[in-house]
Amino acid sequence: MKTRVTEMLGIEHPIVQGGMQWVGLAELASAVSNAGGLGIITALTQPTPEDLVKEIDKCRQMTDKPFGVNLTILPTIKPVPYEEYAQAIAGSGIKIVETAGRNPEPFLPLFKQAGIKVVHKCTSIRHALKAEAIGCDMVSVDGFECAGHPGEDDVTNLILLPLAARRLKIPYLASGGLGDGRGLAAALSMGADGINMGTRFMVTKEAPIHENVKQRMVNASELDTSLIYRSLRNTARVFKNSIAEQVVEIESLSGETKFEDIQPLVAGVKGRALFEDGDLDSGIWSAGMIVGLIDDIPSCEDLISRMVEEAESIIRERLVQMVSN
Ligand code: NAD
Repeated sequence: MKTRVTEMLGIEHPIVQGGMQWVGLAELASAVSNAGGLGIITALTQPTPEDLVKEIDKCRQMTDKPFGVNLTILPTIKPVPYEEYAQAIAGSGIKIVETAGRNPEPFLPLFKQAGIKVVHKCTSIRHALKAEAIGCDMVSVDGFECAGHPGEDDVTNLILLPLAARRLKIPYLASGGLGDGRGLAAALSMGADGINMGTRFMVTKEAPIHENVKQRMVNASELDTSLIYRSLRNTARVFKNSIAEQVVEIESLSGETKFEDIQPLVAGVKGRALFEDGDLDSGIWSAGMIVGLIDDIPSCEDLISRMVEEAESIIRERLVQMVSN
C-alpha cells in the first residue's frame, strides 16, 4: 500500500506503533520497524534524557529502518524536564516525533530545525486543526475507543475520521479501536492514510511485558476497559482490573475527588512493576476497547503482514465486487 503516510515516513506499510509508557522500548520499536511499520520509542519510559539517547542508539543497532520517538505532555506525579527530553531527541538524529497530551507548539522550532517530522496525537477535530495550523506534518486522530487518554469529548472514530477527511489538509493516522485488517481497510476508507496501534502491539511476541498481561488481554472482551480520572478531566482508558474498579468507585463518591485520593493506586511505577512481574491486580495499565478483537500473540511481522493482506483482500475483492456490476 502506498499512501501519504508511507511516503512521508519512509515506511513500507501504513501502520504506526503508538507511544506507550513502559512498553515503547527498543525491542518493540525495532520489531515493528523491521516488519515494515513505524516503531516508536516512548521518551518518558526512560528515566533521563541521556537514557533516552542510549535507547535510541540501542534501537539503531536493532533496525536500519526508520523509527520515531513519542513525547507525551500530560500531568505527572514527578515533574518532567520536557525541554531536556526534546533537546535530546533533536540532537539524536531522530527524524520522526509523535507528540501527545498538549499543544506541541513550544517544541516545533527545535524539531523543525532538526529536520524532524512531527505527528501530533489529537482527540478532537479542533485540536487537529490547531496542530495543522501550527505546522505539524501529520496528526494521529484518536477516537474514544483508544487506550490511554481519549480526552473529554467522547467522540468515536466513525465520526472523527470522516470529519478529519473533510477538514484537514495534512495526512492523518486513525488511532483507537484498530487491530485487524478490517479496521485498517475501514480507516483508509474513511480518509486516513494509515493507522496507529498501541494495545494490539502490546499483545505481540516482542512486546517487553509479562506473558500474564498479554494472555489476560487475549482472554478479555470489548467490555474489559474502564475510564478513570474522569472527575479530574484527565480521563484514561485502562484495563478493567480490581485497581481500576477501586479508582472508579473512589471517583463516584460524593464530593470532589482529589488526585491524592487515588495516587497510590495509579502510580506509573506500579504499572511498570506489573508489566515486569505479571501480578495483574497490583496497578493499572492502559488498554483500548480493541482487546475485544485480540485473540492471539503473534510476532509483529506476522501481525502486520496478515493485517495488510486482509485489508488488501477486502479492498480488492469485497469492496470492488460491490461496485463492479
Ligand atoms: P505518573 O506515574 O506520573 O502518573 C500516573 C497517572 O496519573 C498518569 O496517567 C498521569 O497522567 C496521572 N496523573 C498524574 N498526576 C496527576 C494529576 N495531578 N491530576 C490528574 N492526573 C494525574 O505517570 P506515568 O505512568 O509515569 O506516565 C508518564 C506520562 O505518560 C504521563 O504523562 C502519562 O499520562 C503518560 N501516559 C500516557 C499513556 C497513553 O496511553 N497515552 C499511558 C500511560 C502514561
